[in-house]
Amino acid sequence: MNALKSVDLRQGNGLCLLIHCLKKKSDPPPPFHSNLFIPLEALELLVQQLLESGYQFTLPGVLLQSNRPQCSITFDDGYYNNHLFLPLAEKYRIPFLVFPNSYNIQNNMPFIWDLWKSKKSEEWPFTSVDYKGLYEDVLPEERKQLLNDQYRPFTFDELKKLAQNRFVRLGAHGHTHQPFVDAYASQFHQEIDQNLNFLGTVTDSPIEDFAFPCGLYTPHAMRQAQQEFKRVYTISGGPWHLNQKVVHRISLENSDERGTLEQQIIRSLVWWNQLKKRINMMAYTQPGLKPLIHAAKAIKSRF
Ligand SMILES: [Zn+2]
Repeated sequence: MNALKSVDLRQGNGLCLLIHCLKKKSDPPPPFHSNLFIPLEALELLVQQLLESGYQFTLPGVLLQSNRPQCSITFDDGYYNNHLFLPLAEKYRIPFLVFPNSYNIQNNMPFIWDLWKSKKSEEWPFTSVDYKGLYEDVLPEERKQLLNDQYRPFTFDELKKLAQNRFVRLGAHGHTHQPFVDAYASQFHQEIDQNLNFLGTVTDSPIEDFAFPCGLYTPHAMRQAQQEFKRVYTISGGPWHLNQKVVHRISLENSDERGTLEQQIIRSLVWWNQLKKRINMMAYTQPGLKPLIHAAKAIKSRF
């Protein structure tokens, strides 16, 4: 029984999936952030299950002349390991979106959350740190240690080549990945402009899509983003309403740790999980509401 067939998506709706990293069977186990790595075999199985359930793969903004539910696949940050998806994209004819951070590609610099975890056991404080400031303090040997094919970003030439593939579209994701909350809300235009200038050197295609770093946005940042881009992407989960400018994506995690990708999609469509994501968003973006994070955790443990 294919559980995706019973997913309640009203006609005209679809799913938009978010992936960060991919891994092959022969790769060594990732020493940290292993939850971000999706095994390629698990992803291929999901693709087959979605096709069997009647889904058609497309890109947001491309309306198909069919009543079939649609599915889009997106990759955030610009990890080199994303190139592993190309054979699947060719085999199943799946267009996909890549949202790279320009700082890392321009400076050949691993991602700051990985650099943090490579030397610290503390949680990565993703909303409260100055990303650019932290990058400036990275030691050459720390940088070199993570410039392996598992954790490194694309090089400029690799990204340029990827962007030429007929299945690939690029979108903006900020320069350093600084989320636009608290003291950093005012960096929106600086982060976006640097990112767009860089993407303009990679591709001639217009950049019409933008994914919020860490999926976090205030109502003000959402308005700003919608003025600049045709489509804006969150990680709030739930179904994707094809005609809406805001695309709520389902973030997939390592199926060895978090259950099959199919189960993860079905979980994210459950109302209490969507409620939890929205509570978390309010808590992370509005300083007075931080205690709500505990309320969201309670929702998880209850169900
Ligand atoms: Zn990201």
